[in-house]
Amino acid sequence: MPYRSEGRVARLISCVEKTGERMPVPISQAWTVASYVLAQKLRGRKQYPLVLMLEPLYRCNLACAGCGKIQYPAHVLKRELSPEECFKAMDECGAPMVSIPGGEPLMHSQIEKIVEGLVARRKYIYLCTNALLLKEKLHLFKPSKYLTFSVHLDGQKEHHDFSVCREGGYELAVEGIKAALARGFRVTTNTTLFDGADPNSVRAFFDEMMELGVEGMMLSPGYNYDKAPDQKHFLGRARTRRLFRAMLSNRKPAWRFNQSMLFLEFLMGKRDFRCTPWGMPTYSIFGWQKPCYLLQDGYADTFDELMATTEWANYGTESGNPQCANCMVHSGYEASGVDYTFSSLKGLLATAKATLFAKNEDEEALLLLTEPVKPVHAYNPLVQIEANPEKLEETRA
Ligand code: SF4
Repeated sequence: MPYRSEGRVARLISCVEKTGERMPVPISQAWTVASYVLAQKLRGRKQYPLVLMLEPLYRCNLACAGCGKIQYPAHVLKRELSPEECFKAMDECGAPMVSIPGGEPLMHSQIEKIVEGLVARRKYIYLCTNALLLKEKLHLFKPSKYLTFSVHLDGQKEHHDFSVCREGGYELAVEGIKAALARGFRVTTNTTLFDGADPNSVRAFFDEMMELGVEGMMLSPGYNYDKAPDQKHFLGRARTRRLFRAMLSNRKPAWRFNQSMLFLEFLMGKRDFRCTPWGMPTYSIFGWQKPCYLLQDGYADTFDELMATTEWANYGTESGNPQCANCMVHSGYEASGVDYTFSSLKGLLATAKATLFAKNEDEEALLLLTEPVKPVHAYNPLVQIEANPEKLEETRA
C-alpha cells in the first residue's frame, strides 16, 4: 500500500515543518543544544552547564528598581573582565550557549572582541542589552547566527519606562531593535515581570514585539535581590503562576517565545521542576559565583571548583532555603525544562506537544484577564528603599 505510507511520510514531513516553524530557536541552534545535552546524558553526567552567564562588568547606564547588580561601590563598577578572562571561563565551562548580562555589556570597552572570540568558538551568544546604546554601537558587530541581541523590555511603554526608571527608555530600545533588524542581526526581547504587571498589557506588548519583527521573546519573573532598591514588588510563587497562566493561556499563534516551552508551562503552574542552578553558572569579575546567578554564597576560582565545592543540596525551593523559597527564575529552572526534554521519551513528547499545541486554551484563564489590575506605575513613586528583605510573602506556595 505505497500511497498509505506516502501519506504517513507526508504527515510526518508536515509535522516536522510545523515544528520547525514554531521552534523557539532556529533549527541549527536547537540541534547544537540537543546534541550537547544528549552527549552529556550518554556520558552519565547529571550536573552539566547549559548556558554560561557571563557578566563582564556591573556598570550600567540605567538604575532599575528591580536590579541588584548596579548597587556596587564605584571601584567595583569600574572593573571589567578582559576578553581573555571571558574566553577562559567559556572554555572551562564548555556550555553551548552564553548569555552576557551585566551591567550593560555595550558599555564594556572591549565587548566587540569578547563577542568575536565567542563567535569563533561557535557559541550561541545572547547579548542582553537595554539597547540605549545599540544603534550607535551596531557597527562594532557582524551579523551571525551565533549572535543575538536580547533586548531588555519589561512591557509596554509606560510600564517599561517605570520599570527601568527612565522616561523614553522604551522608544530608544525600539529604535535600537529596528536598527539591528534592518542590518540583519538576530534580535529577541527579554522581559522580567514583577507584582502589579497587567496581563492584558503584557499580551498587547507581545503583539507589539511580534509586529516589530523580533525573532522571539523571553520571559521570567523577577527575583528578590536584597540589593534591589524596590523590595515591594517581587512575586511569590502562587502569584507568579497566576500571572503567567493569565498571560500565556489562550495564546495567539503569532507569538513566539525564544525559550524552553516546558519552562513556560512551569511558570503557568502546569508542571513542576526542581532547580538546577549548575545549568546556568555565573562568571563575573569576582569569579565563579556560588550557587547561581541570583545568590552570592561565595566564589570559586575555576568551574571545576564551583561544581565540586558548592553544596547544591542546600539550594532550590525544596531545600527549605529561605533565599530560594519564592524563586521561579529562568536561571534556576529553564535548564531543568531542557534537561527534562532530553531525559525520556515522555519529555520529548511533552516538548513537542507544548510546541505544536501552544495555544493552551483555558476558559478560567480568560476570566483572570477580566479582573481589575492596578498597574504598579499608576500609584507608586519610583524606587523605594525601606522594606525588610527577609520578609517572604509566600513560602513554598
Ligand atoms: S531556587 Fe533560585 S535562588 Fe535558589 S539556587 Fe535556584 S536559582 Fe538560585
